[in-house]
Amino acid sequence: MADDNGFRMTEAEDDNGFPVTVDMIDQDPRPFVKPLKCRHCPRPVSAVRSHSKARPGGGPASWVHAHLRLNGYPDHGPQCPLNPLWAIEQIARGSEGLAIADPDGSLRLVLPDDSGPGQVPPTDVDPAEPPTDVLDDLTALRITTIRPVLPPALNSAVRIVQFLQLNAFAAPALRLFNVDYRGTRIAWRRFCYGPPAYTKLLQRVVNSGSALPHPVAVYGTVIRAGVAKRTGKAYAVLASQTPGANGQPPFDVLLYSLHPSLLAPLKPGMHVLAIGERWKYRTDRPEVQFWATAHWQLAYWATDQATGLPAEPACPPPLTASARPRAPQPRRPTPRAARPTTSSTPPTPAPQPEGSLAETAVPTPTVPAPAPETAGTADTPPDVPAPEPAVAPDPPVSPSTPKPAGPPPKPTDPPIPPPPLYPPHVRSDQPGSPGVRDWLRRFRKDS
Ligand SMILES: [Zn+2]
Repeated sequence: MADDNGFRMTEAEDDNGFPVTVDMIDQDPRPFVKPLKCRHCPRPVSAVRSHSKARPGGGPASWVHAHLRLNGYPDHGPQCPLNPLWAIEQIARGSEGLAIADPDGSLRLVLPDDSGPGQVPPTDVDPAEPPTDVLDDLTALRITTIRPVLPPALNSAVRIVQFLQLNAFAAPALRLFNVDYRGTRIAWRRFCYGPPAYTKLLQRVVNSGSALPHPVAVYGTVIRAGVAKRTGKAYAVLASQTPGANGQPPFDVLLYSLHPSLLAPLKPGMHVLAIGERWKYRTDRPEVQFWATAHWQLAYWATDQATGLPAEPACPPPLTASARPRAPQPRRPTPRAARPTTSSTPPTPAPQPEGSLAETAVPTPTVPAPAPETAGTADTPPDVPAPEPAVAPDPPVSPSTPKPAGPPPKPTDPPIPPPPLYPPHVRSDQPGSPGVRDWLRRFRKDS
């Protein structure tokens, strides 16, 4: 057997062609027939039972969890989707230049920088949601695509997560990826948090709060989703009762949105990736919360059970109908000190930074003021909707199962949309968008 290089696999295939998962390994008798192989290439696979392992040089033994790994080969077959070289090449090729294969064999995802600091709500309070018209101001600037396509940066992030998913988020696989944001290299494990790292995500949100220096992503599988009856806010539960660390109680990980249509496509069992800076930690019912404000922050996909490979990812539909977009108001000068930075001011509304991911958006310059929205309003108490599992199922809006597709690496047909249009670049030397500033100005005038 080759030396263990630390790479792992989520699934293998037994001698009868049936999938083998990690949770089968410690069962006795084992519900599979050896020998095992990779599901996607001919390489043989070992199923290693849980065991304790002595440390070299003494010291307490460490516990090794059951796992699947290659047997006798350091790498998967040349075109196996679990092969790092192959995967990195495919991701880079389909990235429109945003994912760059570095000479050291790693892949660097360049996150577009269109953000201003300080636009994330504080997490030391349970923040009120910004008035929905503020969100509309923001979203109206970047919605109304003809169809929801994945922006290049989000698409590449999904491809990376799908590769890590197949490789069981093993540390050597994680180390192959970095994010480049404002010229700073960020290790993937500091950018995107999957289920094995939810406790680290908790610590990150608690410690950093509104001072997150870059967008942060969460990957997970939807446990349940719906719309809270009382508030009309949508939610999707990615984790429940995850053990805390450092004395913290168990916590949940949830996606939220004031716009139910954004989370409507999320069904139990679906994989989802969310990227943004709008994170909160709720203490009374411990929750790590991600708040989605636009469709391009979210991608979701299913697993093709026949192949074990991820299906094509999709975005939720844009907010054209439900976002109550308004005609943009003329920009007025706003004092630079407008940004709320203390607890005496309301939380800053939805951040602009992720706007940079909305590269497929086109502006809607003249949209009439529409009907009121059903989601939370400025008068809504600063509460967060209690997930209500008993709530009626969410609307059957969108594809519960994205259309099956072949393996994610598709050399001849990269899943990249045509060159996207860019939203109007509303940034100036002042942080925040016109909508944010107008809202702050109105807030100060009213208070
Ligand atoms: Zn393989």
